[in-house]
Amino acid sequence: MTASLLSGKPLAKLIQQQAQAEAKVLAEEGLRPTLAVVVATEDSSTHWYVRSIERASENAGVDCRIVDLGHDATEQVLITVLKDLSAEPTVNGIILQTPLPPGVRSQELVRHIAPEKDIDGANPLSLGLLAVGQRAFAPATARAVVEILDHFDIPVAGRSVVVVGRSAVVGKPLSLLLLQKDATTTVCHSRSGSLAKYTKTADIVVVAAGRTGLLTGTDVSDHSVVIDVGTNVLSDGSLVGDVDEASVQAVAAALTPVPGGVGSVTTSLLLLHTAEAARDQSRAARMPALTP
Ligand code: NAP
Repeated sequence: MTASLLSGKPLAKLIQQQAQAEAKVLAEEGLRPTLAVVVATEDSSTHWYVRSIERASENAGVDCRIVDLGHDATEQVLITVLKDLSAEPTVNGIILQTPLPPGVRSQELVRHIAPEKDIDGANPLSLGLLAVGQRAFAPATARAVVEILDHFDIPVAGRSVVVVGRSAVVGKPLSLLLLQKDATTTVCHSRSGSLAKYTKTADIVVVAAGRTGLLTGTDVSDHSVVIDVGTNVLSDGSLVGDVDEASVQAVAAALTPVPGGVGSVTTSLLLLHTAEAARDQSRAARMPALTP
C-alpha cells in the first residue's frame, strides 16, 4: 500500500482567494488589511519564512509590515513595539516571530498583543477563549491541520486522534480544536514513552515535535491518516518533517508532505486571519459608542 499524499497547496490557494475576497470588500471602504511581523533574530530560516509571508501577502491584497528590531533587542523594546502596534489603527494583525534574543521571554511578550489583532493566537487569552469554545483566532498552524482534514473530507467526529507535541502554539490549541469537533484526542509528549502504543491504533496522527524521523512506518497502521507539522532544516539546507516519509508512506493511508503540506496552508491562514481581523475592527469602529 502507498499512502495518498495530501498536498496543502490547492487548499492554500483557496484560502488565499478567500483573503483576497475579504481584502477586496475592505478596499471598497478605502481600507487595506495590514499585518505587522515583528522579528528580532538573524536566523536565516526565520528571514526566509518572513519573506515567504511577504510574497503571499502581496498576492492576497494584504500589506505586510516587517518590524525588524535586530538580534539584540531587549524585552522592554519588544514590549513597547508590541504595545504600539496594538494601539496603531492602521495595523490589523500582529505576529511575533521566534526565535527571540537570548533571555527574552516569549510569554512575557505575547501578552501585549491585543487579542483582536492576535491573528496567530499567541496571547494566552486567545488560548483560554479557545479552551472554553469562544471566538478567538487559533494559531494558524493548528487551524491549518483542521482545515486540511476538512478539505480532504477526513472525518474527525468520534474518531481517535493522537497529537504528538504539547506546545502552546501547535499541540495544545490543536487538541482543543479537535475536541470541539468531537474527536477523541490523546496528546503525547517527550515523557509519553513509546509513541507506537498510542499512534498505531489512532485513526489520525498529527506530529508536531520538531524531531526528524520521530514517526516511522512501524508506528502507524494501514488506516492511519498522518499529518506532519514538523519543519526541520537539514545540514544540506533541505526541509523535512518529523515523519520518516518513505516508511510511513509505505504503510499509512494518507500523509501530508513536507514541504507543501501544513506550512503552505498556515501562511495563507495568517493572511485570511488578518483580513478577518481588519473586517471586524472596521465594523467595531463603525458601531455607535455605548453611553451609560
Ligand atoms: P516545541 O515548542 O519545541 O514543542 C515540541 C513538542 O514536541 C513538545 O511538546 C515536546 O514535548 C514534544 N516532543 C519533543 N520530542 C519528542 C519526542 N521524542 N517524543 C514525543 N514528543 C516529543 O515546538 P513547536 O513550536 O510546537 O513546533 C513543533 C514543530 O512544528 C517544529 O518542527 C516546528 O518547526 C514546526 N512548526 C511548523 C509550522 C508550520 O507552519 N508548518 C508552524 C509552527 C511550528 P515536551 O513538552 O515534553 O518537551
